Amino acid sequence: MITEEKNANSRILLKRLKQALSEQGEAQARLDEIVKLIASSMESEVCSIYLRRNDDVMELYATEGLLTTAVHYSQLEIGQGLVGRIAASAEPIKTSNVKKAKGFRYLPETGEEKYKSFLGVPIQRLGKMLGVLVIQNLLEREYSDDEVYGLEIVAMVIAEMAELGVFTGSDDKHKLSQEKKATFSTVGLIGKEGVSLGTTVLLEPQIKITDPVADNPIREKAKLSVALTRLKKELSDSTNKKYLKQKGEFLEILETHKLLIEDKSWLNRMEESIDNGLSATVAVEKEQTATKTRIATVKNYYFRERLYEFYEISNTLLKILTKQKSKLNLNRIDCPILIARNISPLELISMREHLNGIILEEGSVGSHTTIVCRALNIPLIIQAKSITENTNHKDKVILDGDQGIVHIRPEEEIIRAYTSKLAMRTKAQKSFLALRKLSAVSIDGIKISLMINAGLMADLPSLVESGAEGVGLYRTELQFLVSNTVPKRAQQAQIYSKVLDSARGLPVFFRTLDIGSDKVLPSITPEIEPNPALGWRAIRLSLEKSGVLKMQAQALIRGASGRKLNIVIPLVTKPSEFDQAKSIILAEIAKEKRRKRPIPKSIKVGTMLEVPSLAFAPNSFFASVDFIMVGGNDLKQFFFAADRENEKVRRRYDVLSTSFLSFLTLIHEKCEKFNIPLSFCGEDAGKPIEALVLSAIGFKTLSMQPDCIGPIKALLRSVSLSEVRSLINKCMKENTETVRPKITNYLASINK
Ligand code: PEP
Ligand code: MG
Repeated sequence: MITEEKNANSRILLKRLKQALSEQGEAQARLDEIVKLIASSMESEVCSIYLRRNDDVMELYATEGLLTTAVHYSQLEIGQGLVGRIAASAEPIKTSNVKKAKGFRYLPETGEEKYKSFLGVPIQRLGKMLGVLVIQNLLEREYSDDEVYGLEIVAMVIAEMAELGVFTGSDDKHKLSQEKKATFSTVGLIGKEGVSLGTTVLLEPQIKITDPVADNPIREKAKLSVALTRLKKELSDSTNKKYLKQKGEFLEILETHKLLIEDKSWLNRMEESIDNGLSATVAVEKEQTATKTRIATVKNYYFRERLYEFYEISNTLLKILTKQKSKLNLNRIDCPILIARNISPLELISMREHLNGIILEEGSVGSHTTIVCRALNIPLIIQAKSITENTNHKDKVILDGDQGIVHIRPEEEIIRAYTSKLAMRTKAQKSFLALRKLSAVSIDGIKISLMINAGLMADLPSLVESGAEGVGLYRTELQFLVSNTVPKRAQQAQIYSKVLDSARGLPVFFRTLDIGSDKVLPSITPEIEPNPALGWRAIRLSLEKSGVLKMQAQALIRGASGRKLNIVIPLVTKPSEFDQAKSIILAEIAKEKRRKRPIPKSIKVGTMLEVPSLAFAPNSFFASVDFIMVGGNDLKQFFFAADRENEKVRRRYDVLSTSFLSFLTLIHEKCEKFNIPLSFCGEDAGKPIEALVLSAIGFKTLSMQPDCIGPIKALLRSVSLSEVRSLINKCMKENTETVRPKITNYLASINK
C-alpha cells in the first residue's frame, strides 16, 4: 500500500475510534465497539484489549472474535503468556504460528486455539504500562512492520482514553489519580549525600489529553514545529544566562541538547505518527514511550545516557505543547524536594537555587544530572522504586541521602527524629566553620592534612569555604564527561589554569584521564566490554591513545604556566605503565622548553594505588614515584572482588576489616621506607570512623568531599590517634575480623 493511502486509512480508523469513544453510554459498550472497529480495519478475526489492574494482572476487558464469556474472566500475570510478555518488555510480539512462539500460553476459556497468527502491542503512556492490544488471525499471516506501527498508533489512542477513565467506572481498580495517603518509604542509590526535610514537588508534566486524534496533519506538524522552536529558544536563553557563562561544563551539556533537538530521525518519526492521525502531543508521547522502552534494553552506558536525554527533552516539549509552565514555581513551597522519573541537567540548573533535594525513579551514578547535583551540593537519591506513583504534589518528605532512604508522608515520630538530627547538624556546621583556619591536629599532636576531591569548576569555591589544604584529587575526566567530547587543548589549559588560580598556591593533584568502566566517552571508548571495571580503562587506555595523554600533558603544563604541577596516573597495575606515562609527560615538558614556553616550577608525577598488585611492585618502582595516592574506591573493589557500583555487594565487606587494614599498613610501610608521601582519597576518607583509623595507621593526608572536611577536622582534633592505634594493634593481635566495634566504642566513650 502506498504511504499516502496507508496514512489516510489510519486516519479514518482513528476518526471512527474517536467517534465511538465520544458516544454516550456504558464504558463496556465503548470498548466492545472499538475492538469491533479495529478488527475490521486490520482485517483480523480477533481484536482484544487487556488492561492492567492495580494488582499487576492483565485482564481481558473486551474482545471481538474470542468467546465473550472470557471477558473479565481471563487473566494473565505480567510476564505470563504472550500478553504478559508484551506487558513486561513493552515490546510488540508478532508471529504467524502462535503455538511455536516463545512463552505462548493458551487460555482455553477464550476459544483462541483455532487462531494461528498473533500480533500484540503494549498500551502505554508516559512510560506507564496500561495494557495490551492484540489482533489474531485464523490463517498464518505475516504481519508487516507497517501493520505493527498502525496498531501501535491505535494503542496510543486507547492509552490516552484509558488514562481519562473512559473504559472504567468510578469505583474502578484502574483509577490512576487517587490521592495517596499512607506513609510510603523506599530505598534508592545515593547520588549525593545529605539529609533534607521538605515538601514534594512533582516534575513530570501532568498531561491530560482530551483529544489524541487529529485529522489535520498540516496543522499538527505546524504546532510541533512551533513547539520545537520554543524549546530551542529556551535552551539558547539558558545558555546565554550570565550565571551559566561562567560554568563551562553546564554550557556544554546544553549545547549537546540543542544538537539532539536537530536529530532528523526523531523528527521524522514524530511527523509520521502525525500523518497517521495522532495529534502533535500524542506523537511526542509515542516517541517518548518508545525511548523509555529502549532505555530498558540498551546495555551500553553511553547510549543509555543519550536516550535519557531524549526522554527528558520530550518532557520539556510536552510541557510546551500542553502550555504548562516549563519551570515550576517553587517560591511558595516550603523546602521543595523534587520528585521525578528523571530530570535533565537543564531543568536542574534552572531550579537549583530553590531545591533542597531531588529523588529520582531512574537516573544513574555517572549521569550528567548526578555530576551536576554533586557540584551544586544538592542531596540526590536515584533509582527510588515507584516513587512517582506513590507521591502527591506537596506531600511531606524526608530525603536521607546518607542512607539512600526516602519517607513520603512520614509518621510524626520520624519527622521529629529527623528534625532533631538536622538541628544538631546545623549546630555542628557552625562549629566546623569556626575551625576553618585551624589544623587537623589530634590531641596527641599528630597533624593530618585534609584536602578536597574536585573535578568541576563548580567545586572550586569549596576549597576556600571548607578550609582544606589543597585539592588532593582533581578528576580531570569529569570535564570531558559533561561535554561528551574531548575538550581542545587550549580549553583544557584554561580550565587547569583557573583551578590553580582558585587554589591560590595550595597544592592541586591533577589526575590524568580516568575514562572507561562506568565513565564512558563515546569518542574514546565506543566498545562494549564484558567486564568494564576490569577492562580497557584509565592508564591502560591512555597509553594506547597516547595522543590524548600527550595533549592533556601539554594542557596541564600550559595551564600551570610556571607554577608547581602535580600529576597523578590512575589505575597503574605494573611499573612499566607508570614509567611510560611519566616519560610522555617529561617529553612534553622538554618540548615546551625547546619551544621556549614556560615550564612548571616543579613537576611531581605520582600514581594512584588502586590495584593490589602495585603494592608488591619491585623496589625500583617505589624509588621512581614522587607520591602515592590510595584510591580506596577501586582498591577496595579489587581487594574484596566486589563491584563498587553493585548495590547487592558493595557494602558487604568492611574497609575496616583487619585484612584490608593489614594491606594498607603494608603500603604505608613501603612508602615510609622509600620516603614517599602517601595519601588516601576514596570516599571512605570522608567517613568519621574510617578517617580516624586511616590516620591512626599512618595516612598523613586524606582527600574527601568538601562537606566532610569540617566534621572530620573536628573529630581528629578531639581524639588521641595513638590510642586509636593501640586499639587497632590489639584487634590485629586478637585476630578480630574488623576493628569497627572497638573504635566505635572508643568514640562513644570520649563523647560521653
Ligand atoms: C578511587 O578509586 O578511590 C578514586 C579516588 O578514584 P575514582 O573514584 O574516581 O575511581
Ligand atoms: Mg579509582
